[in-house]
Amino acid sequence: MHRPFDTAAQSQRFSQPSIGAAGPAFGAAFSAGIGAVNGSALRDMLRMAQVPGMVNFGGGLPAPDLFPMDRIAQASARALEQYGWRAVQYGTTEGFLPLREWLAAYTCPGMGGVTPEHIQIMTGGQQSLDLIAKIFIDPGDTVLLETPTYMGAVQSFTPYRPNFAAVPTDEHGIDMDALEALLRDLAMQGRTPKFIYTIPNFQNPTGRTLSLERRERLLDLTTQYGVFVVEDDPYGQLRFSGDDLPSLAELMLRRTGGNPDRSHVVYCSSFSKTLAPGLRDAWVMAARPITDKLVLAKQGADMHTPTLNQMIVTELLPLLPEQVDKLRHSYAARARHMLAALDRELPPGVSRTTPEGGMFLWLTLPEQVSTTAMLPRAVERRVAYMIGECFHALGGGHNTMRLCFSTAGPEDIDRGITALAQTIREELAG
Ligand code: PMP
Repeated sequence: MHRPFDTAAQSQRFSQPSIGAAGPAFGAAFSAGIGAVNGSALRDMLRMAQVPGMVNFGGGLPAPDLFPMDRIAQASARALEQYGWRAVQYGTTEGFLPLREWLAAYTCPGMGGVTPEHIQIMTGGQQSLDLIAKIFIDPGDTVLLETPTYMGAVQSFTPYRPNFAAVPTDEHGIDMDALEALLRDLAMQGRTPKFIYTIPNFQNPTGRTLSLERRERLLDLTTQYGVFVVEDDPYGQLRFSGDDLPSLAELMLRRTGGNPDRSHVVYCSSFSKTLAPGLRDAWVMAARPITDKLVLAKQGADMHTPTLNQMIVTELLPLLPEQVDKLRHSYAARARHMLAALDRELPPGVSRTTPEGGMFLWLTLPEQVSTTAMLPRAVERRVAYMIGECFHALGGGHNTMRLCFSTAGPEDIDRGITALAQTIREELAG
């Protein structure tokens, strides 16, 4: 009988490092993948938000006063009553079919070729990013990031050990000439990036939106160079000014005559910003070969998204238009208030974006200011923001910051922006 660990003599034969009195050698234990992940600035921000009197523009949370609490309570009761034990039994990995059917019609309205087979329910958009990385990235593969970008995506991709390449952006989103030059350079080195990660609507962190012309060009370039597009769109519903633009997924469907199986766009969205993030319900829409692989990846991750939560979200779907309207109006008012306060208070030399939706805007300060070094002085004045550097996976952005306008009321916005402007002025005075 093979009993590898049962005699002292056997364990002496192998010179394995043992666990000493001080406990395991943790440092050497972890994978290079997790070792490459930077500490979460987000966690630090959430801690900072708890200091009394702090106006925290850094956190990036949806407004809790707008969560439809009564309706969520009713939907939970209805789901349990209607589905009984099924609501707490294991479910299918692909997700709750009525929800997938609804999403197949909703994600690209009017594009009949999308079926529930093209929809994978995920436990938050964050899981979509993790599992997309899991199915696409081998160590050393190139992944293109519009820069700055959502740091949570970088955190999801990093453990799979890609090489990131930064794609510059301006006020209309990705700089397409720079992207084309980069793709050409990489092709000359024999490298085809696996995918480009982009947030076309009201981007996190900048609040910017990719123009229609650039959306078309992005599809042209990625088609030409054989690069998948990961379109992350959790904020797309939250437009409060300007005209709606078709998603990259929808534009690509138009090009394929409505056939999602010929599309190279992997579309991700979430109910976190339209209903409530704690429900952890999100989805991916993609070609069948991709959703088939996502099913395998998800089985190994969490088997399926909690059944009851999917049923609650399904019960809440009729409420969605009214809820989204409420959010748009409220975020529009908060954004307007913050923009007015910024224009009143900020010293010359500081520029800002003008978001048409979502939850964020972006400040660029004069070159000599480091927003990272300035943060403790802002916190002393009881205002916090998210430092720009953490949205730059490859460095840069030292003089930038993200401000979130979704949670603060008018008085807090005024107080916070006054304190921020004072801090910046002091910084500029040296
Ligand atoms: N993508 C982007 C761009 C985000 O801003 C967020 C959350 N802030 C997510 C994905 C993840 O959201 P969730 O997991 O709550 O759906």
